[in-house]
Amino acid sequence: MTKHKKLLTALLISAIIISSSGCENSPEIPVINSEAEFSSSESSSSVSESLPEITVVPEVSSEPEEEPEPVLEPVVTLSSPEVERGSYFIIKAENIDLSETVFKDFLGYDRRFFENEGAWYCFVPVKTAAEAGTYNLEFSEGDFSYSAEITVLDKVFNTQYLVVEQATLDATLEDQAVREAFDVFYQKYRWYFSDIPLWNGGFVKPLGNYPYKETTKFGTFRTFSNGKTEWHNATDMAAPGGTPVYAANSGNIIFADWLGLTGNTILIDHGCGVLSWHYHLNSMNVSEGDFVEKNSLIGKVGTTGLSTGNHLHFGISVGGIFVDPIAMMGSEPNFDFGKVIEE
Ligand SMILES: [Zn+2]
Repeated sequence: MTKHKKLLTALLISAIIISSSGCENSPEIPVINSEAEFSSSESSSSVSESLPEITVVPEVSSEPEEEPEPVLEPVVTLSSPEVERGSYFIIKAENIDLSETVFKDFLGYDRRFFENEGAWYCFVPVKTAAEAGTYNLEFSEGDFSYSAEITVLDKVFNTQYLVVEQATLDATLEDQAVREAFDVFYQKYRWYFSDIPLWNGGFVKPLGNYPYKETTKFGTFRTFSNGKTEWHNATDMAAPGGTPVYAANSGNIIFADWLGLTGNTILIDHGCGVLSWHYHLNSMNVSEGDFVEKNSLIGKVGTTGLSTGNHLHFGISVGGIFVDPIAMMGSEPNFDFGKVIEE
């Protein structure tokens, strides 16, 4: 064998040996040793004899590489593309991280997503004062963008003229400081958001089985006897003073205090931007920071603040907007829609 052939063979063998050590680039093992071995005089025969043994190498190198996980396209579904004034729908997004995504909804409110069991959700409420019609819902994250047409359905709400004694008006609506204190409270809490669902099944009536009379429905456009107007974004449940008031669902008490306009006021955070609001209570059995189970006593019916008789003013807000609390009774936000079928 010529020196040239020897060198070629040696190169070939070392190439095979190098490939046998994989792509690990470990210089200390076969590469250096092989050069020393093949430079000796009897190396040519031993090399050719040992060739078949080395041919196990291609088997090793031909092992299939681990296939990368297939990248799934983001999938967005809506609980419904139609929504009534004073209600809400839910956006569900899968295969995409929306933890930092903030977008403006079609009514101009900032919206964000929360995670639940591997998917991202966003509640999009529609206020009672919204115009019926079609709107465009849009958001984007990185290269991904989503757009859908949403239909806001009209809903007829009641109107009401409410006569309030002048002394009560003077102490509430006509008192600038009282109104401002309420505004500060409302703006602080309406956007309250905690990421985890705290509710436990469907919402229940806050007066239990008491046969209350609904004196003002949700969404009523009310004119007070002093000319001021408001959308009544709650239900008024008339019941005798002292009637027990229960938590409509489990959650954290984030406010339990007196306000001039709403009297004894309790606010429960049910998680994910779902809050329940209780006004005009006679007394309160909970404090800020308490966790309450569904159906547990939180206070008693009263007529404190801007009120003309014993009743519970009970509201539910979703994402900073009041929705019909009666529509929530017996149900809960449903995350189980638009399932992605993995093949
Ligand atoms: Zn009310």
